[in-house]
Amino acid sequence: MKIFHDSFLSMKIDNLALGIDIGGTNTKIGLFNQTGSLIEFRTIPTNKAISPENFIQQVAYFSQSEILDPLDIRLGDQKIIGIGAGAPMANYFTGVIDHAPNLGWSQVELKRLLNFYFKCPAVIENDANLAALGEHQWGAGKDLSDFILVTLGTGVGTGLILNNRLYRGHMALGAEGGHVLIPHSKKRICSCGGEYHLESYLSAKGIKQTIKEMTGEDLTIEDLGARYIENNAAAIAVMNQISEELALGFVSMAVLLGPQAFIIGGGVSKLGLALNQLVEKRINELIHFSLVGKIKVITASLSSDKGAIYGGAAQVLIEQNRL
Ligand SMILES: [Zn+2]
Repeated sequence: MKIFHDSFLSMKIDNLALGIDIGGTNTKIGLFNQTGSLIEFRTIPTNKAISPENFIQQVAYFSQSEILDPLDIRLGDQKIIGIGAGAPMANYFTGVIDHAPNLGWSQVELKRLLNFYFKCPAVIENDANLAALGEHQWGAGKDLSDFILVTLGTGVGTGLILNNRLYRGHMALGAEGGHVLIPHSKKRICSCGGEYHLESYLSAKGIKQTIKEMTGEDLTIEDLGARYIENNAAAIAVMNQISEELALGFVSMAVLLGPQAFIIGGGVSKLGLALNQLVEKRINELIHFSLVGKIKVITASLSSDKGAIYGGAAQVLIEQNRL
């Protein structure tokens, strides 16, 4: 894989790709050059009170005025080679979001809308898949051929890089590791309605529920991390519990796919090295002997809120054979 060392000043302002990440609360937009340098970045609240089409139009106007006008570039200019968008349940093959509860969107032809309002080729993708692509191209996974990116945030998303390529599964229905089942003494119902799914224990909401059940307190994830460092017994117990749950899910994924690493991103990755070490230790205790010591647990290196926009730009460049 190529490694570039461009300084901002020597950057050529052409062959540009837009990366966009449509989330339940905010939508992030980044403008990249083809070496993966982030030239401009802006955030706009995701307006769920208007139609998806009106919102995409709003984002296009915002991108023009806030990002492109200062560079004297118009949407439709040949300098912009495409836009790559991540969103929950975005289907790469159909270009449609069938149903995304976090956005309140159903049957949205996102690819067509982006193509129309941004006046350039568009590609859409599940947001965790894009985060995996971003990490593979320019982040913690750039020297890895096989890894599983796990975003621990509002939900638990996974993206698979297998043999140096993003794996989507049939009709882009694969790589939903947040919904693998784990053995557990306490049944919980997942946001999808299923029982014992990893996401119901490891989403931000799930972890907060575990903290409450085990300590009786409403601690934030940052509080938990701080108390763990201070050797607080209750915090250690919670961290061990979370690590156990994560390791159970990871072992199930790992024996099937044989990854070199799990890369953890999203808000919960703030627990960082302490969580990684606990999970890696527990994986080695639980996993088939042939894989002991072979799987690393590391933290995503692109900023936890920007992985998907990097991946969006990477997907545009891949589609046009520029990476
Ligand atoms: Zn589920």
